[in-house]
Amino acid sequence: MAKKLTIALAGNPNSGKTTVFNTLTGMHQHVGNYPGVTVEKKEGELKYKDYEITVVDLPGTYSLTAHSIDEVVARNFVIEEKPDVVIDIIDSSNLERNLYLATQFMELGVPLVLDFNMSDIASKQGLEIDKVKLSELLGAPIVFTVATKKVGINELLDEAINLVEKKTTIRRNTPVYGKEVEEEIKKIEALLLKDKDLIQKYPSRWLAVKLLEGDSEVIKKIKESEYSDQIIKQVEKSTAHLTSILGDTPEAIIADGRYGFISGACSEAVKRTYEVRHTISDEMDKVLINRILGLPIFLGVMWLIFKFTFAASAPLCDWFDKGMGWLGDTIGGLLPEGSAIQSLIVNGIIGGVGSVLSFVPIIFLLFLAMAFLEDSGYMARAAFIMDKLMHKIGLHGRSFIPMLLGFGCNVPAIMATRTIEDRKDRIVTILVNPFMSCGARLPVYTLFIGAFFPEKIAGSVLFSLYLLGIVVAIIMAKIFRRFLLKGPASPFVMELPPYRVPTIKGLLIHMWERGVVYLKKAGTIIFAGCVLVWFLSNFPWNPQYSKDYDTLIEQAKDNKEMVTQLENEKAAEKLEKSYAGKLGKAIAPVFKPLGFDDWKVSVGLVGGFIAKEIVVGTLGTLHSVGNAVGNTDEEPKSLRQALQNETRPDGSKIFTPLVAYALMVFVLLYIPCVATIAVIKRETNSWGWSIFAAFYTTLVAWFVAFIVYQGGRFLGLGI
Ligand code: GDP
Ligand code: MG
Repeated sequence: MAKKLTIALAGNPNSGKTTVFNTLTGMHQHVGNYPGVTVEKKEGELKYKDYEITVVDLPGTYSLTAHSIDEVVARNFVIEEKPDVVIDIIDSSNLERNLYLATQFMELGVPLVLDFNMSDIASKQGLEIDKVKLSELLGAPIVFTVATKKVGINELLDEAINLVEKKTTIRRNTPVYGKEVEEEIKKIEALLLKDKDLIQKYPSRWLAVKLLEGDSEVIKKIKESEYSDQIIKQVEKSTAHLTSILGDTPEAIIADGRYGFISGACSEAVKRTYEVRHTISDEMDKVLINRILGLPIFLGVMWLIFKFTFAASAPLCDWFDKGMGWLGDTIGGLLPEGSAIQSLIVNGIIGGVGSVLSFVPIIFLLFLAMAFLEDSGYMARAAFIMDKLMHKIGLHGRSFIPMLLGFGCNVPAIMATRTIEDRKDRIVTILVNPFMSCGARLPVYTLFIGAFFPEKIAGSVLFSLYLLGIVVAIIMAKIFRRFLLKGPASPFVMELPPYRVPTIKGLLIHMWERGVVYLKKAGTIIFAGCVLVWFLSNFPWNPQYSKDYDTLIEQAKDNKEMVTQLENEKAAEKLEKSYAGKLGKAIAPVFKPLGFDDWKVSVGLVGGFIAKEIVVGTLGTLHSVGNAVGNTDEEPKSLRQALQNETRPDGSKIFTPLVAYALMVFVLLYIPCVATIAVIKRETNSWGWSIFAAFYTTLVAWFVAFIVYQGGRFLGLGI
């Protein structure tokens, strides 16, 4: 019988936790370079010796206070689920800072193994760590690892098992805080010990320390105790006493005590064999996060990325597009001509989902570029560079990371706001996040830019949209900060991990992980949306036509041109009389001041609420409906051409570059997709905020598109 064992992995962000997790379990997890990605609980299994081990990847945190959700999540897991062993992953090249978290596990009294990861970097920097001595001083076994090279992983498991089997000889240790503080801890502990239930669950010393630190969650817990009055009174007395004699809050004194404990241990057991004054990372940072150069370089990098994505994907997209056309023709040929099932599969599903899928190359390449920024360590610099700017709008660098993530997908981006400690900061960051142009909007831009802008400026047009999203987000954040969610910005330290050359494998894994989310969406929400749009645009199946087309076609059957014309007329009329046609017509007037009062576009925009890509899928469906009948000997018109030739009833073209731009602006800014609304509800725990987000973004979208279109006309652009 295999014995069961649960190991929790804890550690600072960027300590290599995810890498260790992947190495242990072989599961592919996201490996990022910013705090907060592993906020969900991730688990994996492995067999080692005669153990069946479950590994849980806790969120990366610097501490275990009640300040941020990540920290509370990690702490509660350790306290409530009682894993058999906690492995604290430590970046050995940044030892003292990383050990801070370890001291808190020591105080919690959990079975602890210290994984001194990145030991390769530490030795390169000339650090010499006396393992035996330091583990005695810290009171926990130490294992050196290089997670990226799978070095030391078995020893890590061996130490964990030793702990469980009680073979470890090392005696536990915790920081002590000086005579005064310790006396107060004793007094509080004495009262806590009266509550037997409480003490069963939490170590009394830990509770006492947390109470002195003013930990809101622990205070809440204590309030449930029957002795809470006495305890709280004692805590208040102790706090006042310590503050008066030591001249600082107990919280600060306790933090100092922990650092003192760490630096004491390190100065005895860690030697620097030589000083590395300037690492390569420092040299690079002189330029890359330079006060003057940093921002232009960052903008340049972003611009290059979009240019690269656009240029490299163009041939691939064409190829995908052709493939989908071929698929539609082939499958369509196998199904009964003119039947509802043929129409559903060819126009509804292959036409709709297919036009979304043909953008897969561009999205994957964008994710590849983002993975490069994250893995190389530049993403954290971007946040650092933006920190000052973010302060101007009342937020800080930490809010910028979710914003950048928003370029991929707003859903994980909004989840990443959990690292933001201040609730108001967090809500503002969530509210403006949908303005960050996610990957789903890219197909819409690709389509319209491809159709209405010369290739030479395509990259710049695309870039301008992303920039506009950022500008609108900044303005709205400022407004919210000023009027709706007032308060000072909280202080924050941004970690700058060293630059690293990303591995090809890592890049591909990250690209794939995000890409897969997109493919899944195409297979589920978008699929359902396209079927719905198909239904709405094809039913009633046999409307009351204004002419008897069938007879007319029969009569004209020798005149091929005439037949084609009649068939197109019939198809167009059918569309207009469908539910979608009616719906589109009903709302199209709303878009008249924006230039795109086209009912097909209107239907697409409504579909875009399900997922923004559906705008393209819908246009694909609607246009192939319009063109599918007849012209068998003609090349099927591509969607781009169809849009270029789209006319109003009076014969004038609907789209000019200006109208196309206004439309893209609207798509950029209007209502976030269903999935985003749902995650806003979940993260703010309020329907109010999610409904608010849906409405205000749509209003903003309308006004900005209005200004773009009317302003453009005023300047005489593309009437
Ligand atoms: P997490 O934020 O704690 O999950 O850290 P990750 O696992 O994402 O690692 C951050 C970066 O450090 C990645 O680029 C890893 O490839 C790299 N890394 C992880 N462990 C080591 C190590 O032992 N040595 C070196 N040189 N790099 C490592
Ligand atoms: Mg991670």
